[in-house]
Amino acid sequence: MDYEHLSCEQLLSRIKDLEALNRQLLDEKEQETKLEYAWTGNLGHWYWNIKSNEVTFNPLKVTTLGYEKSEIPEHVTYQYFTDKIHPDDYQAAMDSMLAHLYDGAEVYEIEYRIQAKDGTYRWYYDRGRITQYDEEGKPVFLAGIVFDITEKKETQMELEHKNRILSEMSYIDGLTSISNHRTLIEHLKAEMVEASRMDKPLSIALFDIDDFKKINDSKGHVFGDQVLVDVATIIRNNTRDADLAGRYGGEEFMVIFSGADLAVASAIAERIRAAIESFGFAEETTVTVSGGVEQFSDQSLSDFIQAADKKLYRAKQNGKNRIDSSPF
Ligand code: GH3
Ligand code: MG
Ligand code: MG
Repeated sequence: MDYEHLSCEQLLSRIKDLEALNRQLLDEKEQETKLEYAWTGNLGHWYWNIKSNEVTFNPLKVTTLGYEKSEIPEHVTYQYFTDKIHPDDYQAAMDSMLAHLYDGAEVYEIEYRIQAKDGTYRWYYDRGRITQYDEEGKPVFLAGIVFDITEKKETQMELEHKNRILSEMSYIDGLTSISNHRTLIEHLKAEMVEASRMDKPLSIALFDIDDFKKINDSKGHVFGDQVLVDVATIIRNNTRDADLAGRYGGEEFMVIFSGADLAVASAIAERIRAAIESFGFAEETTVTVSGGVEQFSDQSLSDFIQAADKKLYRAKQNGKNRIDSSPF
């Protein structure tokens, strides 16, 4: 239509007509949207007129955030929404929009958290694209869809949390929360390679709780379990950060002393033994351990561990509650 020859009054009436039509279309759109996307989590459509900075949208986009329809301002700007985006997600949302508007990205597409009226955050998946350009080729109008994906996100984060726990379970001992057998072996293998390559010392200590069967038999397994937890804590608290302490099996523990020769490792093992002997276990129970210490000398993994185990056995035979590091 040729608007240039219309009078001001005619133009105003024309605008009113168009506004009415627009309202009608939006009303229909809203109903259609409600029907079409009746399932949870779907919010519908939005339109952004860049020149007037006016956003038109399905009210669900705002009522989902806890606002009443009556609270929605008459002139909603782009910033009305972006101001509510979580600070950690804000830049990514801006970058995505700018990339689409000016850098040739095919769509604007982003997941972000948006703040509800009560201060909590919901997750939105937002996707849109330019639908109109001006004569100079500048974008003037965008249309998009937005979904509430909060529930999906929460399920996803719960799964990630469970996966983290599962993977932790694969290298941590469930009872004592220190490294398990598998972690000890993997770490020891790597340390052996490193020790050979760099020609630096490496030692291990194997500890075994003395007469643990008696403790279990007289005080019960629950008490025995607590002793294992306490012993594990003492061992870990008495080893250096570079060393790895783990539960080798039942009531046996291993410490891998990185860069330590026999003398250094024996001294730490002795410190551990003394700390356990003097620890205040429940019911005034005295718990002691025996230990065998071995320095790596380019043997195989099993020969290395067996050498420490033989010394541990000798410590038991010689009366327990002692560390054996003497060569055979
Ligand atoms: P020694 O001084 O010669 O080492 O005697 P010991 O009684 O400690 O040795 P033995 O190998 O006869 O017994 C080890 C006991 O450790 C038997 C087993 O039931 C107990 N044990 C192994 N794992 C656990 C556990 O996870 N919890 C509890 N409570 N006991 C355990
Ligand atoms: Mg044992
Ligand atoms: Mg034992």
